[in-house]
Amino acid sequence: MAWIVKLVSIGAEGDEHSTDVMRIAKPDDLTDLASLGLTLAEGKRLLAGIQREIVAAQARVHAARRPGCPGCGGVCRVKDYRQHALATLFGQVAVRLPRFHCAGCATTEAGVGWPSHVRSTPELDRLRAQFSALMTYRTAAEMLAQLFPVDAGTDPETLRRHTFKVAESLPMPVTAEPAASAEAIVVTLDSTFVRSCEEGERHLEVRIGNVETTTGRRQVFGAVVKTDTDPAALIRRSLDAVGRTEGTVLTAFTDGCSGLRRLVLAAGVDGLPILDWFHVAMRLHHLTQIAGALSSDGPERAAAKAVIVEEVERLR
Ligand SMILES: [Zn+2]
Repeated sequence: MAWIVKLVSIGAEGDEHSTDVMRIAKPDDLTDLASLGLTLAEGKRLLAGIQREIVAAQARVHAARRPGCPGCGGVCRVKDYRQHALATLFGQVAVRLPRFHCAGCATTEAGVGWPSHVRSTPELDRLRAQFSALMTYRTAAEMLAQLFPVDAGTDPETLRRHTFKVAESLPMPVTAEPAASAEAIVVTLDSTFVRSCEEGERHLEVRIGNVETTTGRRQVFGAVVKTDTDPAALIRRSLDAVGRTEGTVLTAFTDGCSGLRRLVLAAGVDGLPILDWFHVAMRLHHLTQIAGALSSDGPERAAAKAVIVEEVERLR
């Protein structure tokens, strides 16, 4: 048993034009459950086929129009054609579009309001960014390829690039509505290094942290060092978001370095930061190593070393 999926276009005058999109064949019985209905592969092929036909028809109609010149109001004529390859959620499409020329004032009109060098539709960009926000770029790329007939732009690096582009075009968040005032807030701040993907830059120093109230309200923040982001402002904004008021007791936990201490101070946390367990343990580990490497030449030194090793162990 077989079907032919047809796409029928209806023109402005009601004229109909039919195109075969796809042929679907199925066994004559349902012995095998897997043959029930459309498979994912058939669904993807169908979507890609319909997308190609609709895009081709849209391009034909678009190319037939002769827009008025925005400069002098004269009628434009076709100057040349440009081929555009575009990734869409339902497959890669090729669109051949005219560029227009006005004889009156000699200007060239693109005829479309697309951003220059655009290679994908806004919907695909948005979906890629949304997926990338929920999972790793690699997983997001695999998921897109599994579910949709996307045959371009499923490389993890492409997803990363597009996610950043979408992020850059987002408006800065407006101040959130004031949260209920918090009695106490704990600020945790630490720094680490991530490998840079840019050429000539090996590592980027990143400062990350979170603010937390006793009632479970929480905000995380992070910024790359030596960029336009003001980390103190970031912390202040996070504190306000979880309900910092005049009377809120603020406590900071850092790794003990003076740079981070200055930062929390600039953010309005004026008490001495507390060293968190992780960094206390790191310092003890360092002490253990030093004690273990002490010389034990002669009975006096050996005895001293034994005492030090024991003390450090007790401290832990
Ligand atoms: Zn003109």
